[in-house]
Amino acid sequence: MNRSAAGKHKTSSRYNKLKYGRVLLKISGELLGRPGALFDQKSISYIVDQIIAGRRLGARIALVIGAGNILRGRETGWLDKVDADTCGMTATIINGIILQSAMSAGGLECRISSGLRFDGIADRFSRRREVRFFDQGGIPVFVAGTGNPLFTTDTAAALRSIELGVDILIKATKVDGVFSADPAKHRDAVFYRRLSFREAISKKLGVMDLTAFNICREHGLPIYVYNLMKFSLVKVLTGKPVGTLVSNGGKINDR
Ligand code: UDP
Repeated sequence: MNRSAAGKHKTSSRYNKLKYGRVLLKISGELLGRPGALFDQKSISYIVDQIIAGRRLGARIALVIGAGNILRGRETGWLDKVDADTCGMTATIINGIILQSAMSAGGLECRISSGLRFDGIADRFSRRREVRFFDQGGIPVFVAGTGNPLFTTDTAAALRSIELGVDILIKATKVDGVFSADPAKHRDAVFYRRLSFREAISKKLGVMDLTAFNICREHGLPIYVYNLMKFSLVKVLTGKPVGTLVSNGGKINDR
């Protein structure tokens, strides 16, 4: 076997390990910081390492970044709602620049694509351009959400997932997945390994904000919720049961 054929074989056998080859990873802003600090260098490096490992396996990865470490519009009741959301979207741009910088330093090809005009720093989102970049192995980092107030970055993640045609939307959080109640407040909260969209609705489980959830449901786009700081992204990509899968399939399967 010549060298290039061997290389191809190696790549495809690695790729074959993947359950999900094209994914959108929604990173909550909180994951970039820690209590008392907007940004935590160790957490950011850890996230970048996760993405590097996923790319090494051949996965196509796109990112949507939130801003919970800086500002969420709904949490600033004293500000005009629309202004607060504009601040929230702007905060996601800061997070996106930081992630882009850390990923580039780690050798990843990435670029930020913004829902709001931010000339000279980020291109405005263009579906065709980002699909091409993504298909070629680049990592688009979507910032400024949908570009509209009154939405969240979960909704932006659902939208961009459909636009890129990914296999799954992975929601990276600080909790292990979807529970029957908030596990921090209820010690007897039940963890769900698999759920259907219908089950999630009937049990009133807040998997994502409702607009985002409905987009995923309508388009049959599975959602995977897991704890990024605890489990490797590679485990999710290769189908290991580390979080909660919400899909059209379903049947509740408790841990
Ligand atoms: N936001 C918005 N429109 C969008 C996406 C986000 O107005 O399409 C604002 C909103 O105020 C939101 C904030 O940006 O609270 C940060 O996003 P999010 O709350 O989703 O961040 P996360 O909780 O994922 O860190």
